[in-house]
Parts: sequence; structure tokens; C-alpha cells
Amino acid sequence: MPREELVMVCCSDIAGQTRGKGFPVKLLEARRNRGVGWTGTNIMITSFGAIADGPFGSFGDLCLKPDLDTHVRVDFDNEEEAPEQFVLSDICNTDGSPWDCCPRNFLRRGLAALQAEAGLLLKASFEHEFHYDGVAERPNSGYNLDSYRRQGSFGETLIYALTQAGLEPDTFMPEYGPCQYEITVEPSIGLRAADNAVILRELARAAARRHDARASFTPILRPDAVGNGVHLHFSFLDAETREPVGYDPARPHGISQRMGSFAAGILQKMPALTALTAASTISYIRLVPHRWSAAFNNLGIQDREAGVRRAPVFEASGAAAAEQFNLEYRAGDAAASPYFFLGGLVWAGLHGLRQGLATPDGTDEDPSEMTEAELESRGLVRLPQSLATALDTLAGDEDLKAAMGPLLHQVYLQHKRFENDLLAELSPVEQCEHYHQVY
Ligand code: GLU
Ligand code: MG
Repeated sequence: MPREELVMVCCSDIAGQTRGKGFPVKLLEARRNRGVGWTGTNIMITSFGAIADGPFGSFGDLCLKPDLDTHVRVDFDNEEEAPEQFVLSDICNTDGSPWDCCPRNFLRRGLAALQAEAGLLLKASFEHEFHYDGVAERPNSGYNLDSYRRQGSFGETLIYALTQAGLEPDTFMPEYGPCQYEITVEPSIGLRAADNAVILRELARAAARRHDARASFTPILRPDAVGNGVHLHFSFLDAETREPVGYDPARPHGISQRMGSFAAGILQKMPALTALTAASTISYIRLVPHRWSAAFNNLGIQDREAGVRRAPVFEASGAAAAEQFNLEYRAGDAAASPYFFLGGLVWAGLHGLRQGLATPDGTDEDPSEMTEAELESRGLVRLPQSLATALDTLAGDEDLKAAMGPLLHQVYLQHKRFENDLLAELSPVEQCEHYHQVY
């Protein structure tokens, strides 16, 4: 049958969903500036369809303005299906200026401030765990070669798709949980790191679909399962020289002064930040001690339960320590849009730099074993234990409110509080089932 190629122009929104509109791809260049029409209330559409109350109603016109550098076209060589084709966009006013609530612009503004105020470029990579239902569940199969084998060629399809889209796949593995897999890619600079996370999630879904299966990025499959974490590895380059500047072997834990202040800002803001990085009700089933996720706002040295972990340097690789050095934020998942996730981290880190906060002391013991007094003396707190608490903390954080701007801060809270209320009557198992369907 004759066909004409379409492209979807998409944004990643408060719900962490990728939404947009399509048109013939041959018009992409012509629509570079005007994009496609959009409206404010779209950002109030929750993952479950219901629309949260918000300030926009049926009024107002916006556009999704494509960023042609993010154009993805992956041909899976399947006659029955259109190639996977989409392009990421900013949400703009009709005059092309950024809309106050554009998630991508929230991150872009933070990155620009980081560069202007501290001379830093952020280099980052999102590490994703997810559930792939194209394999039957097999008990006790973490990291198992047989779990790898049983996914057939899905992993290879995914690696192909990511490579076609210009990402650089690093590892693919069967993770610890039932039908759980993990994919990592090489880091990118600035906005591109978050764009790549959106692209990766969609290409995993696309690759799974070509295998008549689903890849789900739900934060946790069942209350008794291990979570699907999204961990953010980050480091810095000097904006002028493009040399790595996160590492300083003369300082505690090898963390440079600027990296240390940035990390301290993240730890200080972490109870509010989780509202942006762990943005579902079930995210908080995952963020408990002894699930290898994160439960406290601590800097752990090579500890996979820390809020922020200093990742290892592999001397044997031959690569310079400064090139490898990075910190890993672990209290996140894919219910959060990568733009809020990374944007929140950047603004929190910037707060640490602005205040000149000292590099945090690293912990090498388990904070869940510490007494209240010990926690307090080290400035450690348990992270929020519900989305509602995280949202209340974000509501009261004047620095993050200023970073988001009053309108985005308001609509983010309205959206997520509505989602929280929507699920309030459901049991944890039912909530997990709901999120599994939509992420
Ligand atoms: N599944 C764990 C989480 O929820 C992470 C395990 C790991 O360290 O990779 O974050
Ligand atoms: Mg993992």
C-alpha cells in the first residue's frame, strides 16, 4: 500500500508522558518555527487520563516547537509498521518564546545559570531499569545468562534503535528483579542528556512493540518487587576548556570544590527534590532502606543505597580518573519527566554553589541503623515516605519555587496532588497495577 511518512512532535510533560501531534515529515523543516498547536491544559492531563484542575481551562494557544537535532527515525524493517519517528519539542507561546511551564525550558534555564554563574557544563547519563514482559517470569534469575537469553533479540533490537537515534549504548543486562532489565548509555552534555532519556524510554517501548511485548518503566512492579530505579550519573566540564572539573584528588573523596557544593545543594534539597524525581505514589514504596534504592539524603562512597553515591573509578581501564569521576543520584524513577528530574538537580546543585555549601561528609555506614541523634548530628534526614509529603516539601521550598517560577510550581503541585488523590483509595497493589499500565 502506498504510504506517506509521518512524524510526531512531542514533549515530555509533568505526567512524565511523551505527548504530541503528528504531521507529514516532509513538512518538518517548514514547521521548524511554528510547530504544531498545543494548549495549556494539556499539561494537566494525568497519566490516568483525568485532567487535574488548573489555571488554564479551555483557553490559550501554545505550540510544540520541534528541536530538529532530536529528530529520531528508526526503521525496524517491518512492512506492517511505520518507522518509529518523532522529534522532541519545546512548549512555546505562539510568538515562539518559551512557555512558563515548559519542562524542557525549566532544565535549559538551569543549565544556562550553571554555566553563567559557575562556568560549568553538566555531563550526565540516565541509567534505566525497566520491566520487559516478553519473557516469562523465572524465580531467582538476577543477572542470569538464561534471563538474557530468554529475552531473545529484544536487547539487540533496542541497541540497534538507540544507535540509529545517535545514542551510544553502554551496557544491557538482566537486572535482579523478575523480568527486569537495565540499559545504560554514554553521557551527554546539558539538555541532550535529558533528551536522550526521553528517546531511550520511547525506543525501548518501540523495540518491545516490534516483539509484540511491552517495556514498562513503572517505578515498581509490585510492592514486594525491587524497584525500577532511574539513576542519574553526573559530572562537570569547564565551560571554556571543556576539561573535566569534578575530580580533585587532593580533596575528600576526590570531589572538587564546585562538585562538592553542587552535591551539598542536592542533599539539602533532596526531600523536596524527590517530588520532581520520584513523582508517583508508588515511587515511595521503592525509596525505603534495603531495597538498593535510596532512603536518606546521604553521600555514600560506593554505596548502592545512598541518596547520592560516589561512583567508582576503574583504574584498570587506563582512562584518567578525572574523565571517569562521577556522582550518581539514586532517588529517581521514570514516572518523572527527565526534564524535571535533571532540571531539579541542576537548580538544587546551583543553590549549593550559590550558598558556597561545603562538600558533604561521605557515609560509609548504613543510615537506617543510625539513631535520630546520629542522623541529626550528620545533617541526614529520611527522605519523604509518600508523594504527598514530598509535594508538601516542594510547596514550602522557596528556592525551588523561584527556580520553577510561580506558575510552573503551582501547576506542578496541582497536577501531582490531583494524581495522588485519584489513587488514594487504591491499595498499594492496585496502585502498582495502574502505574504499570501507563509507564
Ligand atoms: N533496583 C534498584 C533501584 O530501585 C537499583 C539496583 C542497582 O543498584 O542497580 O534503584
Ligand atoms: Mg541497576
